[in-house]
Amino acid sequence: MLRVTIDNEDRITLPVEALKALGARAGDPLELEMSEGKVVVSPLRTALGSLKETIARKNLQTQMQFIKGVGPKLSELLAKRGVKNVEDALYLLPHRYEDRRELRPIAGLRPGFTEVFTGRVVSAEMSSTKGGRRFFEAMVTDDSASVVLKWFNCNPTFMKRIWKTGKIGVFTGEVSQFGYQREVHHPDVEWLAEGQNVQEVLAADPVNFGRIVPVYPLTEGLSQKVMRKVMREVVDGFLPYVQEFIPSTLLASMRLPGLRQSLRDIHMPSQDVKLEDLNEGRTTAHRAIAFDEFFFWELGLALKKRGVMLEEGIAFQVTHRYTKPLARLLPFELTAAQRRVLSEIKNDMMAPHPMHRLVQGDVGSGKTLVALMAALVAVENGYQVAIMAPTEILAEQHWHTIHRWCSDLGISTVLMTAGMKGKQKAESLAKIADGSAQIVIGTHAVIQEKVEFARLGLGIIDEQHRFGVLQRGILRKKGCDPDILVMTATPIPRTLAMTLFGDLSLSVIDALPPGRTPVETRIFFESRRSQAYDIIRAEIAQGHQAYVIYPLVEETEKSDLKAATQMAEHLEKDIFPELRIGLLHGRMSPEDKEAIMGSFKACELDILVATTVIEVGIDVPNATVMVIEHAERFGLSQLHQLRGRVGRGVAKSRCILLTPGRLSEDGEKRLKVMESTNDGFRIAEADLEIRGPGDFLGTRQSGMPDFRVANILRDASILEQARQTAFDLLEHDPELSSPDNANLREELLRRWGQRLELAAIA
Ligand code: ADP
Ligand code: MG
Repeated sequence: MLRVTIDNEDRITLPVEALKALGARAGDPLELEMSEGKVVVSPLRTALGSLKETIARKNLQTQMQFIKGVGPKLSELLAKRGVKNVEDALYLLPHRYEDRRELRPIAGLRPGFTEVFTGRVVSAEMSSTKGGRRFFEAMVTDDSASVVLKWFNCNPTFMKRIWKTGKIGVFTGEVSQFGYQREVHHPDVEWLAEGQNVQEVLAADPVNFGRIVPVYPLTEGLSQKVMRKVMREVVDGFLPYVQEFIPSTLLASMRLPGLRQSLRDIHMPSQDVKLEDLNEGRTTAHRAIAFDEFFFWELGLALKKRGVMLEEGIAFQVTHRYTKPLARLLPFELTAAQRRVLSEIKNDMMAPHPMHRLVQGDVGSGKTLVALMAALVAVENGYQVAIMAPTEILAEQHWHTIHRWCSDLGISTVLMTAGMKGKQKAESLAKIADGSAQIVIGTHAVIQEKVEFARLGLGIIDEQHRFGVLQRGILRKKGCDPDILVMTATPIPRTLAMTLFGDLSLSVIDALPPGRTPVETRIFFESRRSQAYDIIRAEIAQGHQAYVIYPLVEETEKSDLKAATQMAEHLEKDIFPELRIGLLHGRMSPEDKEAIMGSFKACELDILVATTVIEVGIDVPNATVMVIEHAERFGLSQLHQLRGRVGRGVAKSRCILLTPGRLSEDGEKRLKVMESTNDGFRIAEADLEIRGPGDFLGTRQSGMPDFRVANILRDASILEQARQTAFDLLEHDPELSSPDNANLREELLRRWGQRLELAAIA
């Protein structure tokens, strides 16, 4: 119980703890509710409160030209940097910091550091390098030593007018070492007036001296000094309008400061913070902002996921009518990982809400079978299933696999391809429309566009290595509210999966079927090409088959296509005249592709020369060696997918990464990763590290939210925390309907409502 007293003017002052408990700040209106002689105090959440917020929000939208010292020209430059209004400015974070807390004696200047020092000019004149390049050079001295300052590309007349011996200044710049000589190129200068002392100069400019100063990303025509001044204005004038949305108790429990404090600390770091932490974005202020960004995103995903759970869907029953017999037909047992994932899927299917699950499994982990088992559950319940593959070849391969099992079980399957003609096509469409086709297999495009189902109950989307935005909406329009299962062969690092697919349930097939030996991978430089050929020859002599892969950046790139074609000819004529060689590339007709694949599978070809069309899902266990030409040109996930084509049988397999030798740093890293591991998740993580999230995902439509500060690599633990916090919060307040969370909800809708299609909860 808190005790308060009434002062002489009938006023009550609430203790700080009480304000904290109310979540109120100075200036907030409070509400007094009286009943049965008791008075209950609560924050006022009425029009007045939201009016305040509206005003605050509006203030953050203030255009930069209205900031003191910003004219039309400067505001144009800022706009080029993406800074149009105050909010943009607050979130334009310094990309590094300089330690200007103390003046260094010149003797103590450290090469590689940006230092601040003072000294007297002892000489200043134009000079030139041995190569004839002209530059301006000045020598500056203090009691301890002297240092050389240099300017290239400067105006000599101007420099000579300014740089007079005897003048004293404060200089700031990065120190470099050339032999015994330390130099500072293009330093910033503050001149001392006659009789002025250094401390006065420093004190007069607290934005640029005596502290750790921020270094902002600039654009041409914009200087750090100007930028710092503008930012100072913005921070001083507008920080009070930044709203704190995340409850302070919550932040306190994680020892994170609020947004206002964090933004201040980032733009004007306090004296005691570590420079490295600032430069690496690891201060509590950085962490707090990252948390804020992750939290709202995860809250949105959590709400979205809940929304799906509230919708009505089909509650399937597991009758085992087909699944048991299939299990008996299989020549092997399901792996523990397959069984676990399958039971997760079955649980979802039995629930009366639409399933929305992502199954991740490395190449060869046996996703097709899991998908088929799920399909059988739907069929057992009298529903149809659509299985969508990313390419024609894969759709056909799925169809062959599935058709084989299904015909034994008495289930009808239909393959839909883009190339299907007239009567055959009409027949298939009719079967799908009247429900007699139980499982329909085709490419994404074919199934989405043209087909009408009688009773679609389950959609299975094989994404392979693409991160497409899930096409749930399109499938829903096909009638019932089908369950959706998405399969991806690209292992996605956990942090990324949480960010991208956080509204889906996630299953991971994390083990390969037994009896697989890891593929032995080696980098070969061009000089060892003939050795690579020997290995191919040796494998084929043992009755095995080989792939030779050629890079094809675009399937339409004629020159690469020519290279692959020529390679096939060269191998056939000059290298392996005794062997049977086939060529597969993306510009062949579907029939030709299938014919070639068919003969390779039937062991009528020894070597398949292929472009990357091969990478997805092709399954020929007898192929035991793969040579990848120009391996440095491929991305890591692509290399991993390609390599997954071998090592599918019991025999030991090898993968040779051929490369001309001049490797870029990243190229070398990629190939080394391939040599060191077969584990798709480790490869994915390395890939994410080498490329960063944006590139890792490849496309703009990758679905990756654009965080301004947060970084899923650096801030992985914060992401976990934010996700947990967001999901916990919804657990207690499923629709964010309590007055305490009204703020959160509004802000969430503002930030991500459209993007996450959360309008329904508004
Ligand atoms: P992916 O996950 O890459 O799609 P597939 O479903 O194509 O993998 O399976 C790869 C190979 O492993 C296939 O030949 C399949 O028949 C086989 N397979 C699947 N599950 C098992 C298992 N439990 N035991 C042994 N082999 C299996
Ligand atoms: Mg597959």
